[in-house]
Amino acid sequence: MPGRNTIFIAVALSLAEAKGAEAIFLGFTAADTLYPDTQPDYLDAFRHLAALSSKAGVNGNAPTLIAPLIQDDKLAIARRALQLGVPIAETWSCYRAGTEPCGVCGPCQLRDRALIEVGRPDLATPQGRDHYAQEHAQEIERVTRLFWRFMLTG
Ligand SMILES: [Zn+2]
Repeated sequence: MPGRNTIFIAVALSLAEAKGAEAIFLGFTAADTLYPDTQPDYLDAFRHLAALSSKAGVNGNAPTLIAPLIQDDKLAIARRALQLGVPIAETWSCYRAGTEPCGVCGPCQLRDRALIEVGRPDLATPQGRDHYAQEHAQEIERVTRLFWRFMLTG
């Protein structure tokens, strides 16, 4: 959805002022580099806006916009979550509105791949584990074919 972070942060700034919140945490990650509304310059512009758009901001107490994962890829995030004891089985990345993660959409696949690669396939969705195994089977088949082509042709 184009501009969604602009909408989410604007709503968060409004709620922060109404509730007197001191900080707003954003889930931007290094995997989001394709989106202009997840970049450090964009975040700085919203920090400036936060200082101008509320009574608290004008008084020098704008809520702080914090994106603690902005430098981390999904693998680093999965490792950190495991180190911190985050209940990963209760987390959700899916973009679909089901009662369970679909395991097929992009965010589900990124989440599952990271969990499998950090050695916790049990926390991935069944669809994610199947997809990962299928990808690896194709890669093994490709490398095997290259190996035999090299061996047979010199
Ligand atoms: Zn999904």
